[in-house]
Parts: sequence; C-alpha cells; structure tokens
Amino acid sequence: MSIENIVYPGFNKSLIELNCLKKIDDKTYEVLDFTDIEWVRSALHESAISIDNLVKLKFRKPTDEEMTKVLKKIGADKTPDQVKDSFNDGKRVIGISSGKGGVGKSTVTSLLALAYAEKGKKVGIVDADIWGYSIPKILGAKFPPIPFSNRIFPSKINDLNVMSMEYFVKQDEAVIWRGPMLHKAIEQFLFEVIWEDIDILLIDMPPGTGDVSISLSQLLTFFETIIVTTPQSNATLVAERAGIMSKKVNSSIIGVIENMSYMKIEDSIIHPFGEGGGATLSEKLDVPLLGQIPLDKLIASYCEMGRLQDITSHKIFKDILEFSDKIDKIAPKKKPINLKIN
Ligand code: ADP
Repeated sequence: MSIENIVYPGFNKSLIELNCLKKIDDKTYEVLDFTDIEWVRSALHESAISIDNLVKLKFRKPTDEEMTKVLKKIGADKTPDQVKDSFNDGKRVIGISSGKGGVGKSTVTSLLALAYAEKGKKVGIVDADIWGYSIPKILGAKFPPIPFSNRIFPSKINDLNVMSMEYFVKQDEAVIWRGPMLHKAIEQFLFEVIWEDIDILLIDMPPGTGDVSISLSQLLTFFETIIVTTPQSNATLVAERAGIMSKKVNSSIIGVIENMSYMKIEDSIIHPFGEGGGATLSEKLDVPLLGQIPLDKLIASYCEMGRLQDITSHKIFKDILEFSDKIDKIAPKKKPINLKIN
C-alpha cells in the first residue's frame, strides 16, 4: 500500500482519487484538509505512518475551487431538492419493520447489511429506531459521522456506512420525540447525509406502526419493507399491523423474516418460542417467508461484544447470504407512493 491509496475518512475514496495529495519532498506530503476535524487529520496521519513511519503530512485548507471539485466528485454538489428528487436512483431503500421491540429487528438489519457488503454492495444503514437505537453498538462503531460542507458523511463501520439516532439524541430525550421532530430527523438522515454511492439503504425502523413509515412514504418516491417477527403468535399479531401499515402507505413488502425460530442443542432442535408464526404472517400478508434465523449463542454474544461482523466467518452466515439472494430475486415494485392515510 502506498500513501496515495490511503482512504480519506468519510469519503470512501483514496487520496489520489480525490486528487488531494502533493509530494513536497521525499518524506513530506501536502494533503487537503477537507473537514477541518482533528481526529480525521490524526486518522490520516496514523494511516500514513503505518506505511512509512518517517512520513510527514502537512495539511492545507482547500481553495473554493478545490472544494467545488471534490463536492462534485462525490456527488455532494446537489441542492436539497435535487438530492430528494434523485434519491431512489440506483439504490434500493428497504425499511426493516417489526410489530414490537426485542424481536431482533436491529440484529436482522445488521446481518442483512453484512450479507450485502460480503456480496460487494455498498451498504448504508439508517438506524431510525429512536427508542432502541443499537446498530452502532452491535457493529462496534469507532468513528462518528463527519460533517462536510453542508452535508454529513455517515459513520463508517468496516465496509458499512451507518447513520444513527444515537449520535444525535440523548438517551433520556428519546421518549419526548414525536411525529414532527422525528419526521425532520428522518428527512435530514435521508437527504443531508451523503448516500450518493450507496447501492442498498436499510432503515432500522422503530417497532410498531406509525410515524416513520408515514414520513418515509411522504419523503420518498417509493420504499420497500421487510417484516421481522418471532414465531410467537403475539409477535406475529402485532407484526401483522406493521405489515398492514406498510401496505397502506404503498410500500411494497418484500417478505417476512422469522427470527429466533429454533435452537440447536447438540443434535436436537427445540422451538422455545413456538412454531409457524413467520409462515402464518407471510400467508396473511401474501408475501414470501424469506427465511428463519435460529436463536444462536454466537449471534447474541457477537452483538453484545459489538462485533457482529465476526459472524461472517461462521456457517450460520451462509443462510443470511441466501436470504439476501432471495431478496435480490424479488424485483422492487417501483410504483410511486400513494399515501392512503392521514
Ligand atoms: P429489536 O431491534 O427488535 O429491538 P435487537 O436486534 O436489538 O431487537 O435484539 C434484541 C436482543 O436479542 C439483542 O440482545 C440481540 O443480541 C438478541 N438477538 C436478536 N436476534 C438473535 C438471534 N437470532 N440469536 C440470538 N440472539 C439474538
């Protein structure tokens, strides 16, 4: 690896691709300081000395012209209206919903994100679960989002791009968030964050029906939904309402994922939460059952350690990859949203 190939934090692009590196002498390079954030400079410096520990980086503020060029390069030169109008272009936007909390919606969102990243897609996650934001914790986020010009780079967790309420809301404030505030936050998460080069954007929705589904249907031309449930009948009953809500706001439902379906203990399989909830729900909503995820010790402990990405080297991850293949085969129904509720 050479200095020019170092990736600029946030930008997903190397110094050479951004044309922001100039060699001054054998060991000194000038780098354009696009963000004016100390930890970004330190991260660049650390990457440089890991390649050659005698290298020195000198940071320079970019000129207006250099700033304009880089904004254009990363697609961040659009006005908010242009961002909104072209938001669906080139990417799938999928809300992951559930009827109630604790069924593993954030875990499933993260697993699907890891599957898509494994398949070489550029993946974004919007953690919109205001009452239970947990994606940065599950995946072990190291760096916060980076403000850039009047936009924001999502936080980067390995290959995943993540934007979470966690970065903006104090734990004790979450409960007072209501429709209009939430709507504004979702709008900013979608249109102010730089999602320009993302192939698939997964939105971890708050449990239940409600505000965020309506906001998404008002803000986007279309979006799709995956419903997560456990096999328990009380979970599937409330999940059914989330499904009905998605249908009402004309979001096309891709299918149902049943989580915590069974447990393998040595050679036997037990069903601690009963059986059949996912299948019943998918029949009722007239969508496919995309898959069943076991209650798995590894998943639980990797989530707890903030290292769910380590699951990718285990056998169980093959199933998740298969679910993502199924999702790929279900072509998005790109019909414009026709809001049927008030
Ligand atoms: P939700 O987003 O629906 O509130 P989470 O994804 O936060 O739920 O999951 C709730 C808890 O259950 C977490 O502690 C998570 O680690 C655990 N969990 C979720 N899915 C599984 C699974 N398949 N196997 C083991 N533990 C799981």
